[in-house]
Amino acid sequence: MTDFRNFIDGRWVETGKTFDNRDPADNRLIGRVHEAGDAEVDAAVRAAKAALRGPWGLLKTQQRVELLHAVADGIIRRFDDFVDAEIADTGKPYELASHLDIPRGAANFKIFADLIRNVPNETFDLETPDGGHALNYGVRVPRGVIGVICPWNLPLLLMTWKVGPALACGNTVVVKPSEDTPGTATLLGEVMNEVGVPAGVYNVVHGFGPGSAGEKLSRHPLVDGITFTGETRTGEAIMQAAAVGVRPVSFELGGKNAGIVFADADFDRAVAGIARAAFDNTGQVCLGTERVYVQRPIFERFVAALGERARGFTLGRPKDPGVNLGPLISQRHRDKVLSYYARAREEGATVVAGGGVPEMPDGLAAGAWVQPTVWTGLPETSAVIQQEIFGPCCHIAPFDTEEEAIALANATPYGLAATVWTSNVGTAHRLGAALEVGICWINSWFLRDLRTAFGGAKQSGIGREGGVHSLEFYTELRNVCVKL
Ligand code: NAD
Repeated sequence: MTDFRNFIDGRWVETGKTFDNRDPADNRLIGRVHEAGDAEVDAAVRAAKAALRGPWGLLKTQQRVELLHAVADGIIRRFDDFVDAEIADTGKPYELASHLDIPRGAANFKIFADLIRNVPNETFDLETPDGGHALNYGVRVPRGVIGVICPWNLPLLLMTWKVGPALACGNTVVVKPSEDTPGTATLLGEVMNEVGVPAGVYNVVHGFGPGSAGEKLSRHPLVDGITFTGETRTGEAIMQAAAVGVRPVSFELGGKNAGIVFADADFDRAVAGIARAAFDNTGQVCLGTERVYVQRPIFERFVAALGERARGFTLGRPKDPGVNLGPLISQRHRDKVLSYYARAREEGATVVAGGGVPEMPDGLAAGAWVQPTVWTGLPETSAVIQQEIFGPCCHIAPFDTEEEAIALANATPYGLAATVWTSNVGTAHRLGAALEVGICWINSWFLRDLRTAFGGAKQSGIGREGGVHSLEFYTELRNVCVKL
């Protein structure tokens, strides 16, 4: 049984008030999480504030860069511990955690450390009315204490995607990991101490959202900015909290992403790509595809092929050989996903694959398992097509023209990502321009270059992070004007 403690000012803090941490694969109790109350959240924020003026704030950029490289190396040195913590919390396959979550978690520190070492500042020479000149130049200064509120689907990856640039820019952070995945954020505290990151720079407070650590952190007046990844409705609550004191927010929110497959696409690559987009991480990827639109000439063949893929997964424990699909994150989330499975049936969907709960062996029967599922035949007005399910499922509908595909894809309040499959260069570029999303993949999905802008359009987010775009949120750009 693991005790997940808060990490405040470089020390481990128990609160006596704990909640359960369960293995989603079998619902076994595996840990106790110490929930932070007002006092702990306040102590974490104050420690972060003090660290800004302490040794951290006094570091030269190069020293900060070296420390962040040491953090990345520290994660890699303890690679197995991180993988084990991530798979204990999420149940995701070892293959996924060891190839995506943990390496990217480490890379996020190096990428932004290197960026900050190399990024240029803007300068403008102004000709003044007296015939002289003024030199304007930009100076980037840290924003201050950043509140980092994270989801459970890619816990270390998404958390470090924020903590990496925040620290590289010289800020300090208070992280509130998801209540479902306290493990890797806590472990990172150990690494911070091991490599000598000053106390108070990285803090972790555990707990839930409303009335708990999440809300307390977002309302704390000494937090200078809040970066959040999670559901759109949670974003609304955090934005209201941030409005007091006009604190800026950076939001990566929910999606209901479309996949569009044209008849001229490389069929096998498209099937494989959409299968990844729909089912990877048991469908719990914000960029995942739950609405697939396939051009009519290949519709039937595509439906059959994707159904085949959905039935082909091996479900099981993260380290069992051949396992390529894990459980959902929790029983609560399974209830939500299964409610949409029921709704699809009630509304008359054709269930091409899955649609229920798989038969699991005895030891796993109590886990949060659902079948990878493919439907057809629902109207576009269905809640299954309109609302984010965040499970291993998708609905496939036919389309005839490019214009129709664009209109269908855009008919949602969300606008995070899209994946388009075609061999026609013109179609590809036109879709790239017409789809109302932050990220449009052509003949690919989740192909990430960390220097590019990442974020959502419409109700899928506010702001962009990634590469130099992260500087917009994690620094204040000060202009200095010198009359020459
Ligand atoms: P969630 O919104 O339920 O919770 C996210 C975090 O917010 C958790 O740490 C939670 O405790 C906290 N929280 C909840 N209510 C709060 C409140 N009132 N004040 C402060 N904090 C609060 O999201 P989730 O279920 O953990 O994650 C799944 C969601 O995240 C999906 O909607 C998914 O699309 C989205 N997501 C988006 C991206 C992206 O990049 N756009 C990436 C991953 C996940």
